[in-house]
Amino acid sequence: MTVPAGDRREVDVLVVGAGPGGSATAYHLARHGIDVLLAERSAFPREKVCGDGLTPRGVRAIDRMGIDTDDPGFERVDGLRIRSRKVTMELPWPRLSAYPDYGLVRTRLDFDELLARRAEKAGATLLERTEAVSPVFDDGWVGGASIRSVDDAAAEPVEVRARFVVAADGAASRFAAQTGVRRDPSRPLGVAARRYYRIDRRPGPWLEVWFDLWDGDALMPGYGWLFPVSDGRVNLGAGLLNTFRNFQNVSAQRVFDSFARMLPEDWNVREETAEGRVLSGPIPMGLNRAPQAVPGMLVVGDAAGAVNPFNGEGIAYAIESGEIAAELIHDALVSNRPGIAHMYPTVLRERYGRYFHVGRNFVRLIGNPRVMGAFTDYGLPQGWLMRFALRFMGNLTDGRDGDAQDRLMDAMVRLARAS
Ligand SMILES: Cc1cc2nc3c(=O)[nH]c(=O)nc-3n(C[C@H](O)[C@H](O)[C@H](O)COP(=O)(O)OP(=O)(O)OC[C@H]3O[C@@H](n4cnc5c(N)ncnc54)[C@H](O)[C@@H]3O)c2cc1C
Repeated sequence: MTVPAGDRREVDVLVVGAGPGGSATAYHLARHGIDVLLAERSAFPREKVCGDGLTPRGVRAIDRMGIDTDDPGFERVDGLRIRSRKVTMELPWPRLSAYPDYGLVRTRLDFDELLARRAEKAGATLLERTEAVSPVFDDGWVGGASIRSVDDAAAEPVEVRARFVVAADGAASRFAAQTGVRRDPSRPLGVAARRYYRIDRRPGPWLEVWFDLWDGDALMPGYGWLFPVSDGRVNLGAGLLNTFRNFQNVSAQRVFDSFARMLPEDWNVREETAEGRVLSGPIPMGLNRAPQAVPGMLVVGDAAGAVNPFNGEGIAYAIESGEIAAELIHDALVSNRPGIAHMYPTVLRERYGRYFHVGRNFVRLIGNPRVMGAFTDYGLPQGWLMRFALRFMGNLTDGRDGDAQDRLMDAMVRLARAS
């Protein structure tokens, strides 16, 4: 569907951007019978630079959207295989009652379309190749947006009036920026690059992650991954955080090149086995964008910086924040009390504030090469420690009602300040 004819349209909710965050918001609103318009600048299927990996947290999030996780387009993974110069260790996902015990991999090319079509099927109106150009303000309240087809730059924008707007416009988030949403430079930001390869070597049912990247004998600031895709390719990627020393002088591309060179020659990771270019993108972390709501508008997913600082996982948090936003907007609409929707930043802080606070401190710590060196030398070889770290860093827990590890995790998070 394209931009509607006429110069004005009214809906209950306008969602800007149909990545996982926007599609989840639209899905959870539409299943409650709310009239929702989902505007997406590109057309599906569309590429998104990503590792394409879902932990059990991500699996639970898409399961709540009614996605069939047995679909053969998904590659199932049993856990993480961690690698360093000294250690290779397989860590199965924990067995918990709140989460499944498997993860998934699927290219964003069709994963994002799957989610957007799911929202459409639930009743949302999806407009592709439609850009939200600017918000419409009514006395300081975001009351809609001007949207236009990206195929006709000369066309007059169409004004969409909405009782609520949700900005799910991703890491660049130019739409939300026009309402005053800004990045907090004191909070972490990642940058990562990835490329697909068709190689014979398969990692088996594991997400492989490298904690130390070497350029000859020099330790590079960064981490690498190799994830299996169901069509036989692998997603190879590398990234670094702005808490790492030398962040300013090292690009994601350079870290990626060092990583690809470091892999065993007989894996055949080279130009001839590559498909597509190396693409890179930013990863805003730890709720590093604020405010997460302005009057009339809520901000979800990357646009709010809702990425776990421990592991760079953003898909699960985009979907979860979309579901939270949808539930609050629904309650606000049915009770005719707009204030309920504006509890969103408080609910986000309650849900993630303390945990992300610990995550931000963690990435600051490992930004110091000596701490990182000690971690890879002495931490990685400890199986028990790494099994706990997998739970902690994946935010996979049954909470206070769970086992001893869950209770330890809960106590550690409780000590932190929610911010
Ligand atoms: C290299 C890399 C690897 C990553 N690996 C993983 C991983 O393995 N697992 C994981 O969980 N996370 C990963 N992430 C993070 C993950 O990609 C993001 O957290 C996730 O995509 C956030 O979803 P979103 O819906 O908020 O934003 P996006 O997925 O970016 O979607 C935003 C959408 O909004 C649209 N849009 C933007 N502006 C407008 C506008 N004005 N009008 C209309 N439409 C608009 C865009 O076209 C886009 O479709 C990775 C990120 C990078 C960069």
